[in-house]
This record gives sequence, C-alpha cells and structure tokens, in this order.
Amino acid sequence: MASLAGAGLLTASVIWLSGGAPVWPKQSNLQTPPPVASDKPDPSPLTFKNTTRVDEEGRQIVTNPAAVLVLVNKTRRLPPDFVPEDLVAPQVPFPFTAHEPRRFMRAEAALALEKLFAGAEADGLRPYALSGFRAFERQYAIFAAQVQRVGEAEANRTVARAGQSEHQTGLAMDITSREVGFTLTVDFGATPEGKWLAANAHRFGFIIRYPEGKEHITGYSYEPWHIRYVGAEIAQYLFTHSLTLEEYFQQKYGFGVD
Ligand SMILES: [Zn+2]
Repeated sequence: MASLAGAGLLTASVIWLSGGAPVWPKQSNLQTPPPVASDKPDPSPLTFKNTTRVDEEGRQIVTNPAAVLVLVNKTRRLPPDFVPEDLVAPQVPFPFTAHEPRRFMRAEAALALEKLFAGAEADGLRPYALSGFRAFERQYAIFAAQVQRVGEAEANRTVARAGQSEHQTGLAMDITSREVGFTLTVDFGATPEGKWLAANAHRFGFIIRYPEGKEHITGYSYEPWHIRYVGAEIAQYLFTHSLTLEEYFQQKYGFGVD
C-alpha cells in the first residue's frame, strides 16, 4: 500500500506488539493463519470480475478479502477465517477505554481515519469511533443475539450475518457522538457530526456505505454512522455521482447490483 510510505505519520500502535492483551474472539483455526495478501496491489479491473468462488453450500465467497476495494455484501461473503494482517488501533477518541478488537482497522484505513478526525475537530466537531474490526465469530454472535431480540427478518435488514459484514475487512468504522448517547442511530445523521461526516468523509477516502434511499441496492437500511474506506479517488467519485459501492462495480465491471 503506497500510502504507507508516510508511515511516520501513523501514530496507531500495532496490536500484536502493543501488549494490551486485547480480548480476542475465539478462533476456530488458530493453527492455520489465513492467507492474506495485503501487500499486493488490488487486482486489475479484469480480475475483479473473478473475485468470488462458490463454497460447498453454493454461497459466493470473495477471493480478494485483503483488497482495499473488496466488495462484501449479502451475496458476496468473506472467508470465515479471514483476519487482516495489518490491524492497528487508530489514535482517535472512543467512548470506552478497553483495548478491544473493535478499536482496530487496517493500517491504511486507520491513518485515513486519524486524518478525518483531525479534519472534523478542526471544524469544531467531536466525533467518536465506536466499532471497527469485527471477527467472523463475533459477527455470528451479534446476528444471533439480534434474531433473539427482533426476529430473523428484521435482524437481516439491520445486522450483517457472519461473513457478510464489512467490519471483518478492517476497512469500516462506526462513528457516533455524545449527542446521540454514543449509540448507533439514524438520528446521528441529523447531528452536526453526522452532517459533517456525510459532507466530508470522501475527502479522506471514506464513503457512507449504506445511504438513505439505496436500501434496495445495498440490502441495508440507512446507516449514517457506518463509513467504509475505499481510498480517496474512488470515494470522491462515489460522492460526486451519489453511487453506492455496488453501483460502482455494476457500472465499471458489470456486476454488483443483483
Ligand atoms: Zn458498521
């Protein structure tokens, strides 16, 4: 990742070396670390067409989970054993003190998030990061808990199933503020921090991944708090043209919108 050439700016700490003893979710395959390729550039446009395989149960599994532009959604799942190899904790405010995996993002995204927060704070705002990386097993537990609470149909509209969450890529972060009680709520979109995020996230390489009015395309209801790192160039393009990541892939590669 070329942008890491300026790694001197990255104040985040590498989790494996931090000694912070993060509460790591149970891994079923600790003996066999997943193959990751974050040091490789994204596939060429042509190879983007062949970035899934079909598993034994007929589901599409992405084959480029470490690509910055990886497209993950309800029809394109991450491999259960995928964990990014360059997770770090961005030095931004969180409304909790514990050292947990949800602080982490991939290095390039973490650096961009620090710049985004610096930009927001320069404009007098006070966003907080709430939830970044989430392992497959953790997402499984969250979905199961939500089914218990609201039933499967509603859970499917609002919470990702294991393997279908962008949080497993290490490229997503949920943002909140004091005004909404540090929760994840649609009301965040109407707060100064939420409005700033919608208007400025692209300047730092992030998109509002699940915008209002695109539910039928993304498969998720409006989430003004969920930002996804895609890099500055693509983020600017999606912002200018009001496109979701699915629509971008459809437009550029001929798949993405089902
Ligand atoms: Zn999220």
